[in-house]
Amino acid sequence: MRTTVGIVGAGPAGLLLARLLHNAGIDSVVLESHDRAYVEQRQRAGILEQGTADVLRAAGAADRMDREGLRHDGIELRFSGRRHRVDFPALTGGRSVTVYAQTEVCKDLIALRLADGAPLLFEAEALAVEDADTDRPRVRFRHRGVEDVLECDYVVGCDGFWGIARRAVPAAAARVFERTYPFGWLGILADVPPSHDELVYARHDRGFALLSMRSPAVSRLYLQVPEGTEAQAWGDEEIWDELERRFATDDDWKLERGPITQKSVTPMRSWVHEPMRHGRLFLAGDAAHIVPPTGAKGLNLAVGDVVTFARALTHLRDTGSAALLDAYSETCLRRVWQAERFSYDMTTLLHPAPGATPFEDRLQLARLERIVSSRAAETDLAEAYTGFPFG
Ligand SMILES: Cc1cc2nc3c(=O)[nH]c(=O)nc-3n(C[C@H](O)[C@H](O)[C@H](O)COP(=O)(O)OP(=O)(O)OC[C@H]3O[C@@H](n4cnc5c(N)ncnc54)[C@H](O)[C@@H]3O)c2cc1C
Repeated sequence: MRTTVGIVGAGPAGLLLARLLHNAGIDSVVLESHDRAYVEQRQRAGILEQGTADVLRAAGAADRMDREGLRHDGIELRFSGRRHRVDFPALTGGRSVTVYAQTEVCKDLIALRLADGAPLLFEAEALAVEDADTDRPRVRFRHRGVEDVLECDYVVGCDGFWGIARRAVPAAAARVFERTYPFGWLGILADVPPSHDELVYARHDRGFALLSMRSPAVSRLYLQVPEGTEAQAWGDEEIWDELERRFATDDDWKLERGPITQKSVTPMRSWVHEPMRHGRLFLAGDAAHIVPPTGAKGLNLAVGDVVTFARALTHLRDTGSAALLDAYSETCLRRVWQAERFSYDMTTLLHPAPGATPFEDRLQLARLERIVSSRAAETDLAEAYTGFPFG
């Protein structure tokens, strides 16, 4: 099999890249190790930055997002029983975010790809990327039990944190930057209308809690839990009781309960692999960087990477200049590190670390006080949350 761009992984990065290239008249083949149902049902991100929503619209992939997605003009910060709304449009000159689940973004992009009749192979596991530093990189893969080779001009590793594409970068050419956190998020999906119409980020002495939503009928809620916690160790009522404690306010706000349909624990990690290119292999999305979910940046970073790659390749085809392609890693990493910084700031602002001293607790509250009392500090948060410009 032969193609211009071999794409490993059909998460949001791989699927959107395939769409952008198709629109630009560049052919590609997408290899995905799981089946379609798995990709369409894996619960993860839900917040699309303004720029991400605009990219999906420009790619002709936003019809359902524009019908069913929820535009959010702010978030609420909650601490010491108090509530403070951060008004995005007022602070950023009109920017907002869209609540539309990653599962739905993937479903929309898969439907478009299949309608175009363009190659997207499910249950096709990439085994290795070979000859990445030559003009003819290849992906060895196994499709439904049969081994095959995909010959490419370029390979883009969109295969997430656990993928194999990155292994083609020699250790001596790579550098990894990492920070793990001694806590994770216990996330639930519940069939109950959200108790607030915008996201609520709550800092409590017992730990962080986040109220979020997937639709007007489905709530998504998270609790900070110690590292290594098993989701099943928490009973449903125990989860609701703890959420209620952490979201408690001085006014009459009330948390609505409902049947929990899914429970899982997400570890928290900050991680960057540099550079994001080796020869003709390019890394995009979680294959190259991970942020803790507090800043809602992971999916949005993946979108930034593939937009940068698609633009660079189109530029090379149209002008003969490889300048943008050569700058790929540097361009993406500028945005990646801003998102790493913001996600780290949000995480350390809102999660009491196990063993934190009373002094550190007070500092956390002082940082929150600063945000709610200074327009400059609040603007900094609003600008970062609604998204950094694509390079
Ligand atoms: C609980 C949680 C909440 C989150 N919330 C947010 C949020 O609100 N906002 C946000 O922006 N981000 C959020 N994120 C992060 C976001 O989900 C990820 O950053 C995003 O999925 C990255 O997309 P990707 O395409 O790079 O990687 P992935 O989504 O991981 O996709 C990689 C794909 O590659 C496939 N693959 C792996 N190995 C191979 C192989 N060898 N061969 C073929 N295919 C392979 C995998 O099956 C997978 O489908 C959250 C994450 C979690 C876990």
